Amino acid sequence: MFNLEHEQVLFCQDKEIGLKAIIAVHNTVCGPALGGTRMWNYNSEAEALKDVLRLSRGMTYKNAISGLNLGGGKAVIIGDSRTQKNEALFRRFGKFVNNLAGKYITAEDVGISPKDMIYVAMETNHVAGLPGKSGDPSPVTAYGVYMGMKAAAKAQYGKDSLSGKKVSVQGAGHVGQYLVEHLVKEGAKVFLSDIHEPTLMHVANKFNTEIVGIDEIYDLDVDIYAPCALGATVNDDTLKRLKCSIIAGAANNQLAKEDIHGFAVMEKGMIYAPDFLINAGGVMNCYGEVVGLQQSQVMDMAENIYNTTLDIVNTSKEKNIPTYQIANQKAEERIAALTNIKKYY
Ligand code: NAD
Repeated sequence: MFNLEHEQVLFCQDKEIGLKAIIAVHNTVCGPALGGTRMWNYNSEAEALKDVLRLSRGMTYKNAISGLNLGGGKAVIIGDSRTQKNEALFRRFGKFVNNLAGKYITAEDVGISPKDMIYVAMETNHVAGLPGKSGDPSPVTAYGVYMGMKAAAKAQYGKDSLSGKKVSVQGAGHVGQYLVEHLVKEGAKVFLSDIHEPTLMHVANKFNTEIVGIDEIYDLDVDIYAPCALGATVNDDTLKRLKCSIIAGAANNQLAKEDIHGFAVMEKGMIYAPDFLINAGGVMNCYGEVVGLQQSQVMDMAENIYNTTLDIVNTSKEKNIPTYQIANQKAEERIAALTNIKKYY
């Protein structure tokens, strides 16, 4: 856990305000480290640290494989996002982000809303995804996940139509609900779970999906499992239970242990669409804001996730190498190539 080769990790604390946060800058070879801020009620600081280290490394790979001129970073705020948010907390956090002088650009993640980001932006310019600018990245993320899922379907079933496919979606939050909309529109049968009852009811009623239990979701007889809540849900326990032939969702770090579960998924004949590849739509949206792209250019980038996913899945089948490894290699190749060009003026 502590050997992921981070460039910088910053612990931020303000006792009076009640802020405890960690900012992790993993790698800035491709550009400034961009990644969202997550607010979560971690059981311990060690748990929060583990999460931010893994997530920020994931952003390096995501930004690299997506062809963005961005490095990888992430931040976590330790606290309950439903009860502990306030202006001072986010503005104090913004000051910590500002102290990094642009080496880290923040954005929204789990537990954070655009309104919270407005407070952060009062203290720093290094924020992407603000209302009135590129806005909520979740619709673009959901579109990219949908494209990645369709590419996996093409490789697994011979055609990319999701009509009639049974898809379980875990998490009806910002991304989950837009994904459900795409799926329902295409004629898929959606099974939805969420720990937050009002969110679940709202989305299930809006799109007329079936509701399933938090744990029941792993035992369903479905074609596709779409994790859109938290990471590590593909693990020793769930792999004994999952009956799907595709895993494709928005959550970061879906494989509890990449080296073990990436192989296990492949050996079960499932296709795992690498999370950091197919959920890159959100960061593409932020990138568009940072470098000044049109929204149509951002959507084109998200649509291209289909081609990249298909290429990776097909290479995985040909070479009998897990998809995550091929995706990692592609990201590492780009980082290595850009490390070399830095030598030249
Ligand atoms: P969100 O907070 O809006 O939604 C997450 C939802 O999952 C919430 O409604 C929450 O109640 C629910 N949830 C939590 N634990 C659950 C469980 N065990 N079972 C079922 N539901 C559970 O977050 P989001 O923005 O929709 O992001 C979802 C995932 O996608 C996260 O892992 C995030 O890191 C990842 N992601 C998001 C974006 C983006 O653009 N928002 C981009 C890339 C990756």
